[in-house]
Amino acid sequence: MSQDNLIKFECSECKMLGYRSFKNKKKLKERLELKKFCKRCKTHKLHKETK
Ligand SMILES: [Zn+2]
Repeated sequence: MSQDNLIKFECSECKMLGYRSFKNKKKLKERLELKKFCKRCKTHKLHKETK
């Protein structure tokens, strides 16, 4: 698996990096956003793709 496809998600509230995923950057140009449980906020928060 190429490192180019590795993406990380940070909490939009506290900026904690909580999740990693893969995507094909050649196909998906837009940034992904996911609603995930944040351990620091202790609730579901929007997580945004980061570099
Ligand atoms: Zn958070």
